[in-house]
Amino acid sequence: MKLKEEIISCDTVVALPNSTSNNTTIFGKNSDRPKLECQPLIQKPRIKNQSKYTECQFIKIPSSKISYAHVGSKPFWCWGYEHGFNEYQVVIGNEGLGTHVPSSPSPKLIGMEIVRLALERSKNAKDAVKVITNLVSEFGQGVFENNQNIRTYDNGYLIADPKEAYIIETAGHEWAVKQIKDTEGISNIHSIESNWDNISDTAINTAKSLNLHVDSPKLNFAKTFCDYDSRYDGRGEFRRLRSCTYLQNLKNNINIKEVIFILKDHSDGENSNITQNFLDSRTICMHYPDSNSDGNTAASLVSELHSDNSQLDIHWTSMYSPCLGIFIPIFIEGEIPKILSIGNHDYDPKSPWWAFRSIEESCRTEGILDNNKASEIRKIWEPIQNKFYKSAKLIAKDANQLKQENKLNQMNEELTQYMLKNTNTVLSTLNELIKSKSRIS
Ligand SMILES: [Zn+2]
Repeated sequence: MKLKEEIISCDTVVALPNSTSNNTTIFGKNSDRPKLECQPLIQKPRIKNQSKYTECQFIKIPSSKISYAHVGSKPFWCWGYEHGFNEYQVVIGNEGLGTHVPSSPSPKLIGMEIVRLALERSKNAKDAVKVITNLVSEFGQGVFENNQNIRTYDNGYLIADPKEAYIIETAGHEWAVKQIKDTEGISNIHSIESNWDNISDTAINTAKSLNLHVDSPKLNFAKTFCDYDSRYDGRGEFRRLRSCTYLQNLKNNINIKEVIFILKDHSDGENSNITQNFLDSRTICMHYPDSNSDGNTAASLVSELHSDNSQLDIHWTSMYSPCLGIFIPIFIEGEIPKILSIGNHDYDPKSPWWAFRSIEESCRTEGILDNNKASEIRKIWEPIQNKFYKSAKLIAKDANQLKQENKLNQMNEELTQYMLKNTNTVLSTLNELIKSKSRIS
């Protein structure tokens, strides 16, 4: 199946400690999905698995003994996640990729399920690479026939921990892995050519059996498997070039604000960041261009991972369009407000995701995004976001102190209250905004 019939995209970026301003790893992802596919935020505690098998959407696989605690951004219908992080500071996001591997008649894993399985089973990025490549080899993923009308595709993964980061790109049961040296961005296009560090044993034979071009002794994974025609107008290439260039230019000065800025990006790439052309589908923040089209950024994550014990990691999460919303600081060491996990197939006034979706709609005039309305919304969020930046840093240090002193209940309680307070601030602001929709329009 080709991807070009529908806009699907995603962008994931990472900067390692040698490239950031404060010696942390910073990860960012925009998850771009069908415009009405609700994607709430889910928290799962660490559990001992009772059953022998884990039921995924189409297949069941042997369970691990323990599933580690994690947080995931979950399309409402799916067992898996678009992106997430776990209790061991592992962060993962995926990308849809198009390949020459034909549709399989037998069921496989969905790319998002692999994200979740790796979060449940890994204590660091290297572990996650092993988990993912083993799952891909054994159970496969990519395009397969199914009777649930679920769009399936090959996947790229970006995996990070406080010290290392890796890219995995796949084609059916085949994969290639590349370790990232400083900064990297991936999009809906294979990026690993012959520069892989590891590759599936069967990749060359699979390529030959599919009559794909194998041109060098060291297999060029992208050139062999990537279906470059599957994305019209080179959007994936353009967006990848944009995020990679931006990160390289900022090298040594990258911080969370800059990574959030990349995810909100609407520049045309030439006029610095002045141009706010919402209709250009090559921008990193993705909006459906008109009412007849699909595809919008559904949720975003920016994680700052610390390798020293100076503070807790802060994970910044946003729902729907990052350029019209706010990033809320999340701590896995506390209880994430349950309300953030509300949301399903249909509009629900109790769901924050659907409220953020309403805000995006309210910024349109006759279906087309309107810069004036967008800037009104941004002005409202800006002071709240700035407060969050300051307070999150403080509590990340205070709570870490409690952790070091083994006062875990107190730490959990303080973080839980902090996240609840911020969520309430955001939700009451959202409600006011939605009420004043007529005034904004
Ligand atoms: Zn946007």
